[in-house]
Amino acid sequence: MARFTGRTAVVTGGGSGIGAMTARRIASEGGTVILVGRTEEKLKRTANELKDLEGTVLTCVADVTKQADIESLTSFVKEKTDSLHILINNAGGSQGSPILEMSEENWDHAQSVNLKSVFLVSKALGKLMLDTAKENNSLEDLSIVNVASLSGHKAGAQIPHYSAAKAAVINFTRALAVELSPYIRVNSVSPGFVETPLTEAGLKNERFEASIKRNTVLNRVGQPDEIANVIAFAASTEASYMTGSDLLVDGGWLIV
Ligand code: NAP
Repeated sequence: MARFTGRTAVVTGGGSGIGAMTARRIASEGGTVILVGRTEEKLKRTANELKDLEGTVLTCVADVTKQADIESLTSFVKEKTDSLHILINNAGGSQGSPILEMSEENWDHAQSVNLKSVFLVSKALGKLMLDTAKENNSLEDLSIVNVASLSGHKAGAQIPHYSAAKAAVINFTRALAVELSPYIRVNSVSPGFVETPLTEAGLKNERFEASIKRNTVLNRVGQPDEIANVIAFAASTEASYMTGSDLLVDGGWLIV
């Protein structure tokens, strides 16, 4: 039996990059995946790319910074599935700016999309995961994976709001792991520099790309599937004794 057969997962930010590749991993191993994001077209395009895989792929338009949208998402999940086993809190990003020029709105948005969304979605869907598992009398391995960042472990120029939010995600993951134990395992994955729509503009600058490679022990930028593989592992029963951990997938950046 494939690793995710009979399992249902919600992937926020599932319309592109790391989220889309994580959805592909889970669906290719038999899981049902609900892709969440703000742009319907992007979600539909990704769902279409995944339609021939073993699992089922559904889409739900929602802004994970908005409580009303999260309530709609919760209703959608209830309507479409009889249980939720996996939540991947992957939506995130930021607009770079030096601290001394950063607007309050920019700061607040980074906290909202990267950190507060993890709280709001985990609260709503964590409860749904527990309720449906109890109803079905199957409190077997349930799992939340939060996508943090290498930037949550170290400082980076012009992303102080993002670094602060991602560091908080790593520690919030530990707090959630304690509170939701023993039923839901909660872990985070911290990617290094990965080629996705988020980093596309930066990678067009050859000098910038060269500096990324220089800083990375493996001497290259990461690919979304290399992060998705680790997220899928943390979400799967193979990681059944792991909770409150952060898995750093950074090509060796942090060790030097
Ligand atoms: P991406 O392709 O831009 O993915 C981010 C996704 O989040 C998009 O599909 C976006 O879709 C969605 N999103 C953004 N704001 C949202 C909101 N308010 N509500 C719902 N969905 C929202 O970039 P990515 O690199 O794959 O990023 C995925 C995660 O990895 C992020 O948390 C990012 O911080 C983290 N990460 C990335 C890197 C990297 O180098 N790429 C490194 C470390 C960590 P819509 O705009 O359509 O909503």
